[in-house]
Amino acid sequence: MNTILLVEDDTALREGLTELFSRDGYEVIACGCLREAREKLTDAVQLIVMDVGLPDGDGVSLCKEWREAGETRPILFLTARGEEFDVVRGLDSGGNDYVTKPFRMQELLSRVRVLLRGSQVARPVSRGGFVVDRDRMQVLKDGEALPLTLTEFKIVTMLMDHSAVVPRERLLEVLWDDGGKFIDDNTLSVHMSRLREKVGAEHINTIRGVGYQWSDTSSAESSC
Ligand code: CA
Repeated sequence: MNTILLVEDDTALREGLTELFSRDGYEVIACGCLREAREKLTDAVQLIVMDVGLPDGDGVSLCKEWREAGETRPILFLTARGEEFDVVRGLDSGGNDYVTKPFRMQELLSRVRVLLRGSQVARPVSRGGFVVDRDRMQVLKDGEALPLTLTEFKIVTMLMDHSAVVPRERLLEVLWDDGGKFIDDNTLSVHMSRLREKVGAEHINTIRGVGYQWSDTSSAESSC
């Protein structure tokens, strides 16, 4: 059974989510502040669902602290509308995804499932007819490896790893770090358009002014 560590100080929401997750077959360890979260992150936990605004600090800082200590389990943030939450900072801290309150329970559950799937040791991971083989750094479609460059591979796996929008700034940062050379905004656009030609434009949605989002199925909203 999968175990979720739920960190939320709003009692009603915490109880509601505990019930929701339990009904969906998860074991839930619930708590309401950072101090308790630190204590309750046991080996049994497979995923962390954490509010950003907590009475003794913010969830993003704890996420950063855990990542710096080598923690690799997926972390999903719960953010409140109007609350100070910087998506770039949230994902930079090592968070894997986020939902904004009020959210639909089904949406939260589906994101939790995606994160748990992605964190399973068994790889390759498959999404929307594509199979990602990280050992060989390949993406297969219908059993055939797509002719991706290393940069394109990094972009596409990063998009597939997140069900939320991946901010442009985040992509630019990662590509800078790993590639060892500067990738500017225009170069990223060129990579994105080549990548769209290779994987199918319908799988990569542009969220204007924010970034990009992977789509498992064809979307009418796709644009460049
Ligand atoms: Ca809160």
